Amino acid sequence: MYDFDLLVVGSANADLVIGVERRPAAGETVLGSDLVVHPGGKGANQAVAAARLGARTALLARVGDDAHGRLLLDAQREAGVDSVGVLVGGAPTGVALITVDPSGDNSIVVSPGANGRLAPEDVRAAAGLLRASRVVSAQLEIPLETVLQVVRNLPSGTRFVLNPSPPRPLPSEVLAACDPLIVNEHEAQVIAGGELGGSPEDWARALLALGPRSVVVTLGAEGALVASGETMTRVPSVKVDAVDTTGAGDAFTAALAYRLGAGASLPEAAAYAARVGAAAVTRPGAQESYPTAEEVAAL
Ligand code: ADP
Repeated sequence: MYDFDLLVVGSANADLVIGVERRPAAGETVLGSDLVVHPGGKGANQAVAAARLGARTALLARVGDDAHGRLLLDAQREAGVDSVGVLVGGAPTGVALITVDPSGDNSIVVSPGANGRLAPEDVRAAAGLLRASRVVSAQLEIPLETVLQVVRNLPSGTRFVLNPSPPRPLPSEVLAACDPLIVNEHEAQVIAGGELGGSPEDWARALLALGPRSVVVTLGAEGALVASGETMTRVPSVKVDAVDTTGAGDAFTAALAYRLGAGASLPEAAAYAARVGAAAVTRPGAQESYPTAEEVAAL
């Protein structure tokens, strides 16, 4: 018996957004719009996305003992995420300072803060949470040695899903645990260590050669490609009017991990995740844009 369908191990950030006419040059000050603060970070986003779909979800993360940390905890609880694994203190809450110009281009400075202090010993101390979870999902906005510790502490029978974002080369011990490794084109290139020519099927074959048990390549409005052994399956996307793609990849990963834990095959889970990703792009924001299971069914 598992208490949780999904345990997300990852980051939690406050996204501080200001609209500007143009970005300041060095030494210059410009005036911007009123500040808007959104709960974000890939780990927190995934946990909210899964809980909104009805998954029994827990989050292992670290926030600061400050107002941003409380905002993030409130957002988790409101979505129904079990936040017993959210550690508080050690550094200020992670922040993304985002300026957006009228064309929609943004500049972002990230201060990892407490995310950078989520340590391997925090994973060891959360062994009970790992044992209680059917599927564990991670990203790379926390230290790589912490992700490595997750892989080392993974109970037998617990499935591991990784979205290596922001991407960096991965140790083979982490790659070998991924079932699946979920990447977009840019992440595929970095993980594979260089330019990937050819089709998404070729990228998937190159990635599979590095050792993951399966690979999913997300293709934006084109849907996704699922690769496992010799079998490649294209998963179509759903046609929607895209308003804001922020956090679509996080919603996709969370939905896929949840459905895998519920017993779906990888292509079935990816098809459901594509519907969730499509629903998420029809509304602005990340966590605010995530659909319920009823909304996915109605799409
Ligand atoms: P990332 O944000 O990590 O780059 P993608 O942009 O590939 O990820 O989006 C993840 C998933 O969300 C896609 O595989 C697709 O299923 C869905 N999605 C993203 N953009 C769109 C879109 N414009 N229309 C429909 N579905 C989309």
